[in-house]
Amino acid sequence: MPLPIDTRKKPTGIKVHVSTGAGVDITWADGHSSHYDFVYLRDNCPCALCDDDRKKKAALAGSEGAGPATAVLPMFKPKAKAKSAAPIGNYAIQIDFTDGHSTGIYSYDYLRTICPCDSCKLEFRSTTQ
Ligand SMILES: [Zn+2]
Ligand SMILES: [Zn+2]
Repeated sequence: MPLPIDTRKKPTGIKVHVSTGAGVDITWADGHSSHYDFVYLRDNCPCALCDDDRKKKAALAGSEGAGPATAVLPMFKPKAKAKSAAPIGNYAIQIDFTDGHSTGIYSYDYLRTICPCDSCKLEFRSTTQ
């Protein structure tokens, strides 16, 4: 049997709006289209460093209980934009951000699972999976 192709995670059209800063638009083989802001992508950067960072923040947020997390990181964080983006083979895109971070490689598989729309949230990020 050939490997089944998940059409939900196969892009048919990819547009990266680097110069306008509008983000990334992807159309998928199942007809769905996704839009990602660069800020959103930066926050969801899949590299080990950022993954670690998110886990630490989540742990911090969970440990203190009540109160807003403003005491933890009061410093100003400029909105991330993309300096450039390049395809990696036919499975991912790499984004070079204006804050100097460029180790994030976003596989299409990953991108579909972080699609910010409600139906993908239900489909890919519900607790039942
Ligand atoms: Zn990262
Ligand atoms: Zn979606």
